[in-house]
Amino acid sequence: MAAPVDNYGRPIRYLRLAVTDRCNLRCQYCMPAEGIDFRPRSELLTYEELLRLCRIFTELGIDKIRITGGEPFLRKDIDQFLLQLRQLPLLQKLTITTNGVFTARFLPQLADVLDGINLSLDTLQPEKFERITRRQGFAKVMETFHTALELNIPLKLNVVVLEGINTDELPDFVALAAQYPIHVRFIEQMPFDGKQGATAIQWTADRIRQHLHHIVPALHPVATEADATAELFTAPGWRGAVGVIAGFSRTFCHSCSRIRLTPVGVLKTCLYDQGVDNLRDRLRAGATDEAIKQVILHHIGRRFRDGYEAERFALPVVQSMATIGG
Ligand code: SAM
Ligand code: SF4
Repeated sequence: MAAPVDNYGRPIRYLRLAVTDRCNLRCQYCMPAEGIDFRPRSELLTYEELLRLCRIFTELGIDKIRITGGEPFLRKDIDQFLLQLRQLPLLQKLTITTNGVFTARFLPQLADVLDGINLSLDTLQPEKFERITRRQGFAKVMETFHTALELNIPLKLNVVVLEGINTDELPDFVALAAQYPIHVRFIEQMPFDGKQGATAIQWTADRIRQHLHHIVPALHPVATEADATAELFTAPGWRGAVGVIAGFSRTFCHSCSRIRLTPVGVLKTCLYDQGVDNLRDRLRAGATDEAIKQVILHHIGRRFRDGYEAERFALPVVQSMATIGG
């Protein structure tokens, strides 16, 4: 089925669905130490509501869904939800983003359900893991890493590049991309830490790219899908690739195919907007599937040109990525 097209001619085929705002970690760039103002459970979309909305999105031609959070594996019965979601006849691709702490034991059962896993890992050093996340769990994340590889689940690592914290480890992450058939993606830090929000960053995509070429002069670009957010590079003899994601510089907005739904049902047509509608409220007020479809299409037809425009119209409230889903 053809994907709906927005007011700038961009096909929208990808939904990022945050199923919870709760998390077992407190990554410094995502949440304050004391956590965020978690919403009462009654405000979160139920699995029944999530399934209904996902079916509606797929019936509109949005055929790729990424489950995120908060930490998705913290939500009870997430495995059952994923199995049910996979049954949607129009869904082409189902992926998940996880911090990996609770993930490994679910993977054997999910190997045929998931088309890929994005594993977030910002350091390869156990003590530094604790400093960045303010929690323990490094060994469990590595277990998830190796289990996913053993099960042949396509694996991408998400590494947020943090000045003075993990930039010394870039060569070690690059070595992983050479050794394993994975994508190691270096992400610009974005202003969603739930507290002050960075307004400038030292490690821009340009600087990361230059640094990667400095580490491996033989790097060359890899072709990606038209709506990819990561620029990918590989080198002779490598099994994997490295990537750069300009989430702060926002250089990929012209081809953005993504919309988002927060754990409380807020529809976002841009990562940087403040939310354009609340689909949960509409569902709970008795809206029909057709009415929900019209609302979604209405907002797809009124998207911001890019993340800068969206940010200008947003309230001056610093969001946490845990409520947006990344
Ligand atoms: N808890 C899961 C995890 O960490 O993978 C899923 C949710 S997390 C919000 C999704 C992604 O957003 C992670 O890869 C995380 O590193 C990234 N992220 C969170 N805050 C960020 C920020 N301020 N800038 C850039 N990426 C961020
Ligand atoms: Fe939790 Fe993921 Fe945010 Fe870290 S980045 S605090 S793991 S939601």
